[in-house]
Formats: sequence, C-alpha cells, structure tokens
Amino acid sequence: MKVIILGAGVIGVTSAYFLAEQGCDVTVLDSQPGPGLGTSFANAGEITPAAAAPWASPGIVGQLARWLMSERSPVAIRPSLDPGLLRWVGAFLGQCNAASFQRNRATMVALSRYSREQLGELRERTGIAYDHGTGGSLHLFRTAEELDRGTSDLESLRQLGLAAEILDPAQCLLVEPGLAKGSAAMAGGVRFAEDETGDCYLFTCALAELAATKGAQFLYGKKVERLCRDGASISAVVANGEHHTADAYVVCLGSHSPALLGTIGRSPLIYPVKGYSLSIDARRAAAAPRSTIMDGRFKVAVTRLGDRIRIGGIAALCGFDMSLPERFRKSLIATYQELFGPADFADARLWSGLRPSTPSGCPEIGRFAADNLYINAGHGTLGWTMACGAGRLLTSIMTGAAYPKSLDAVVRR
Ligand SMILES: Cc1cc2nc3c(=O)[nH]c(=O)nc-3n(C[C@H](O)[C@H](O)[C@H](O)COP(=O)(O)OP(=O)(O)OC[C@H]3O[C@@H](n4cnc5c(N)ncnc54)[C@H](O)[C@@H]3O)c2cc1C
Repeated sequence: MKVIILGAGVIGVTSAYFLAEQGCDVTVLDSQPGPGLGTSFANAGEITPAAAAPWASPGIVGQLARWLMSERSPVAIRPSLDPGLLRWVGAFLGQCNAASFQRNRATMVALSRYSREQLGELRERTGIAYDHGTGGSLHLFRTAEELDRGTSDLESLRQLGLAAEILDPAQCLLVEPGLAKGSAAMAGGVRFAEDETGDCYLFTCALAELAATKGAQFLYGKKVERLCRDGASISAVVANGEHHTADAYVVCLGSHSPALLGTIGRSPLIYPVKGYSLSIDARRAAAAPRSTIMDGRFKVAVTRLGDRIRIGGIAALCGFDMSLPERFRKSLIATYQELFGPADFADARLWSGLRPSTPSGCPEIGRFAADNLYINAGHGTLGWTMACGAGRLLTSIMTGAAYPKSLDAVVRR
C-alpha cells in the first residue's frame, strides 16, 4: 500500500515508522526544512500517562476564573469571535461533566500507557537515543490545601493502572534533592514512578532516520494546500502546486489539520492551545531536577534532558499567534527559581508551540471523511506521550491488524 503522510511532527514520523515497518511504501510531506520543527520541537519532555486527564472537567470553569484573576496565571484567553473557537468552546463546555471526564480520562490513559509500552519496545529494538530518562515524575504541592486537592482522586488513577505514591516533603527531597536550593513552600507531592522523560525533537529526528532505512521518503519544504476528492475517495494531495498520489493519505498536521480538511468540507474540532518553554544548560543552574517535576500551582513542568533543563507551561487561547510575550518568559523563570534556586537564563530563548487540542482531550485517530483518508491529530498536551501508541494504533487500523481491546474507545467510528 502506498501511503502519503502529511506532517513530519512526532505524530507523522511515528506513523511513518510503524507503517514502513509493516511494509507500506511511505512518503511524508512537510512544509518545514526538517522533521519535528512544529510543536514537537521544544515541549516539556514528559512521557506521562499520569497527567493524561482532559482539561474539560466539572470544576474547570470556576478554576479558570480564579486563574485568570491571579498573578502569574497559567492560562491566558484572548477574547475572540472566531467561529472555530466558538464551536470548540461550546463542545468543550459540553464535556465539563463528571461522566465525560471519567470516560475521556480512561481513553487518554489507555492510549498513553500503550504508548509508553511501544516506546520502551522501540528503544529495545532499535537503541534509539533521545536524552531519555526513566526516573518517574513528581507532582509538587505548595500548601496542604493544594496537596489535598491534588491527591483527592488518586484512587481512580490507580484503578486505571497508574502507580501513584504520596510523599511528604522529606521524601520529595530524597527523590529530587535539587529542590533543597529552592524557596518554594512544600506541603508534599505525588510520585508517579513509571513516568519517563526525553527530548521529543531528538526522538523525531532519529526516528525519521530509522523510518528512512525502512524505505520511507521524506519531502521537506512542501506546503500542503488541499486534498482532491473523487467520489468517496481522495485522489491526490496538492503541495507547492504539485499533485502527489497514493492509495491512502494520513493527516498529521497538528493544529493545522482542520484547515487542510476544510478543503474537502469536513473539519475536525481541533484548536491550537499555545504553550511556552525555555531551555538552559544544567551547568548554569544552582540545582537541577533528576527527572521531571510538575508544579501544582503554576502548572509548569521542569524536566532534565541530558545536560539541559527544559521548563514548559502556560495554556493560551489566542489562535495561531506565535508572538513571544516577555511576561511568560518571566513567569517560567520565576517558577523555576522558586523550585531550584538561581540559574543563568541570559541565553535562554523563549519558544512557543501550539498544542493541537480537542474539546474532550482525546485525539482523532482513524478513518476520516473518505474511504482512503485517515487522521492522527489532536493529541493536545500529550502528543509526545501518546505518539508511539498513536502511530502503532493507526498502522493497525490501516493494515487491518489487531490492536488491544483497551484502545477501542480511542478509535474514530
Ligand atoms: C509548551 C508545551 C509543552 C508540552 N509538553 C509536553 C510534554 O511534556 N509531554 C507531552 O506528551 N506533550 C507535550 N506537549 C504536547 C506535544 O508537544 C504535542 O502534542 C505534539 O508535539 C503534537 O505533535 P504533532 O506531530 O501532532 O504536531 P506538530 O509537531 O506541530 O507537527 C505538525 C507538522 O505539520 C507541519 N505542517 C503544518 N501545516 C502544514 C502544511 N500546510 N503543509 C505541510 N506541512 C504542514 C508542520 O510543519 C509540523 O511539522 C507540549 C506542548 C507544548 C506547546
């Protein structure tokens, strides 16, 4: 089967690798000069089924209001009458109830756990290197009230198969001794020992090379403009004015997927939720994390990636605006320094990326709108965590192979 994959982010590249491994003749098109240069470039580096929970939850509207009124809010919303945003917000509000939250979280956790397994097997099979670590994650809470809130639902996480352990401040320091250099109050934390870390960009580049050894072809500098429909099927994709043809087409354009699918009149509800990160050399910091820490108050993740530290967070609804406001840089630095003490950020450049987010938090994976058209997009906050599982699942769907029953709810019907 000849397959054209649109998009060479972590999702397009994992899809390409697993399809090529199954003998498909794969071509990947991307507008950038190389793989992983979109949102997959500088994310927070966490492989974290433990954080697989949708934003759409029963208490989120009140929480958003409190955040928006606070200093150093982890969220920002630019008021807009963009019809795409209004449709998305309407659907999001429809998911903010207990039943939808439980269902969506179970789906996200199932895919994330499967993905972590696939990543581990891939690492063993290929020796792929991407500054990875297997040191777990620590969710840190500053006050007793925040700790109570952060641990109120641990039993349901355990029922979904996630190992979670509540730690007192002394135990947090044993896990992450660098926290001793910080000034942040610490009431305790939750350790998720099975979580992992790694540089998503390094991984995407290395996996693209491995996919190429299996015959996949990567064509860069190709801006995909539209899909051509012929009856129930897609007959071609147009990039830079040229027609490219295949037996099947896979859309992995992250937040840009709806615009392309709009050219055949069917856009999925995926909206960009912008985030920011900073990276510094660990030698320029008084202390550094061993693995990854999530600050429960400011929703900032601090992750060790080899000899670097990545600090990522903020959720901003502002369309496709890629500007880099100084206040977000200051906010990430402040959280880092409260946790780990002083560090030299003089050379650290702020980066922004667009999380391709669905209202439910669950990605769109499977056949979409035509007999030979597939989508693998909308992985939101957890695209790096879900990538290997999503690529492998898509391959099973397209080749008619079996996949675990636990993933039934992930697949588009
Ligand atoms: C600040 C931040 C922190 C994050 N932290 C984590 C984390 O710790 N763990 C985690 O699991 N996830 C994290 N994420 C989410 C994760 O990074 C994303 O879900 C993931 O990168 C999405 O991958 P993708 O391949 O779908 O999209 P992208 O990486 O954006 O890839 C889409 C590709 O499509 C190409 N493209 C777009 N339009 C066109 C076109 N018209 N023609 C040709 N090519 C086109 C782009 O060039 C790009 O290469 C974070 C995100 C952000 C912003």
